[in-house]
Amino acid sequence: MDTKMTFLQLQNYIDGKFVPAKCYLNSYDPSTGEVYCRVPDSDNEEVHAAVNAAKAAFPIWSSWSPQDRSRVMNRLADLIENHLEEFAQAESKDQGKTVTFARTVDIPRSAYNFRFFASSILHHTTECTQMEHLNCMHYTVRTPIGVAGLISPWNLPLYLLTWKIAPAIACGNTVVAKPSEMTSVTAWMMCKFLSQAGVPPGVVNIVFGTGPKAGEALVCHPDVPIISFTGSTVTAQRIIEKSAPYCKKLSLELGGKNPAIVFEDANLEECINTTVRSSFSNQGEICLCTSRIYVQRSIYNEFLEKFVESTRKWKVSFPSDPTASMGALISEMHLAKVRSYITKALAEGATIKCGESVDTLKIPPNNQGGYFMLPTVITELKEESCCMQEEIFGPVTCVVPFDTEEEAIEKANGVKYGLAATIWTRDVGRTHRVAKRLQAGLVWTNCWLIRDLNLPFGGMKASGLGREGAKDSYEFFTEVKTVTIKH
Ligand code: NAD
Repeated sequence: MDTKMTFLQLQNYIDGKFVPAKCYLNSYDPSTGEVYCRVPDSDNEEVHAAVNAAKAAFPIWSSWSPQDRSRVMNRLADLIENHLEEFAQAESKDQGKTVTFARTVDIPRSAYNFRFFASSILHHTTECTQMEHLNCMHYTVRTPIGVAGLISPWNLPLYLLTWKIAPAIACGNTVVAKPSEMTSVTAWMMCKFLSQAGVPPGVVNIVFGTGPKAGEALVCHPDVPIISFTGSTVTAQRIIEKSAPYCKKLSLELGGKNPAIVFEDANLEECINTTVRSSFSNQGEICLCTSRIYVQRSIYNEFLEKFVESTRKWKVSFPSDPTASMGALISEMHLAKVRSYITKALAEGATIKCGESVDTLKIPPNNQGGYFMLPTVITELKEESCCMQEEIFGPVTCVVPFDTEEEAIEKANGVKYGLAATIWTRDVGRTHRVAKRLQAGLVWTNCWLIRDLNLPFGGMKASGLGREGAKDSYEFFTEVKTVTIKH
């Protein structure tokens, strides 16, 4: 029997039709380590066909009223919600995350992304100013740009892809999207619902494949004037370089090395529950996950003891286990990379308080080939250690004491990244003081991952360029011009 026949085989979605690819890549189930799916390994030509379809669809789609675009997007959200369980199972199998996380976070948010921008597009206004002494008025006009190239990562596959597709098409652009080659299945499933929702052919095109081949073909395509990218800082540097000759408009949402600062007046119970979640949710594979925890020295020992105790209760199991807090990491290579930081930490004389190299991981026989590891807490690290400076993007967090507010701010800011930070204190004055000085695009106080999509999202320093959100995405996906009239 040819076992290859049993694999799920995806196709590109171009001009409203599924199109077989010329070459295919294997995609692995991270919870078993086995190939279960084949993904198009698209090239220049396939990307070009998608761009042509998007270009042809632009004049019609951009002439639709925002109300009509909104109606279609709401229907798409309905269809995703109606198939939530199928999407959640697929997202979990593709990425290794728990089904619970996919069911409660990834997929509801994917549907909500369409609903949110379907609504927000109805409420934007432009500006008008007057110069009465010159008999002049000025106003701004916003228009969609054309074909948007959207490139997304593997950690929150459908959630981050729809966070780009929704604002792009709400504004009247057409898109060519390239999801991560490691997690393509839910994007492909969504394509099945596009025409049913009423999205005209060519408005949303999805090409699957690798970054260097399909991604770069999109970045270098002369008919794609905007690129919205979420992924690593290293890839973003390459995208900046490759797109420079075309002067493309770029939105870059990148990595993080997010600190939590725990002051002695914090509500410790709440802080520990949330910080375990912020460190290890989705296997620590969220750009916003906490990976450095600075704790005021007077409560350091108490915090550490309770934090380690709670971390040990964070259960690692196969993704469909309803009691699992954490599933498998994305790939064998990524698991090896994350583990290498434990080895480096040990070589530097750090202490592993729990997890890798200290505790025993218990995984059922069927999942022995999966990419699992225990949530790991490291102490006794110097600020210059690679574990404190580099994005590990896995279930590893470092705990360090501090004495003064000034010292905490300085240490928190002492990395190249500036995505998110969390402050734990009951002192309102301190909250304002510290939040203002932290070099992070998002600062949470006494909570984590609570977002209002109306407000800007994005990072400072090496964590990104530009912001996303109702107003910011609208501004990114439209061109603005100022018109002056003398009367
Ligand atoms: P990655 O940079 O390796 O890949 C991201 C996407 O870019 C994938 O689709 C990949 O195929 C594509 N790509 C790779 N090389 C390319 C190239 N040369 N040209 C064009 N496209 C290319 O990142 P990843 O490993 O998939 O994701 C993890 C990273 O993403 C982490 O650094 C994480 O912090 C970051 N991330 C950031 C945010 C945010 O909002 N700031 C959200 C999620 C993930």
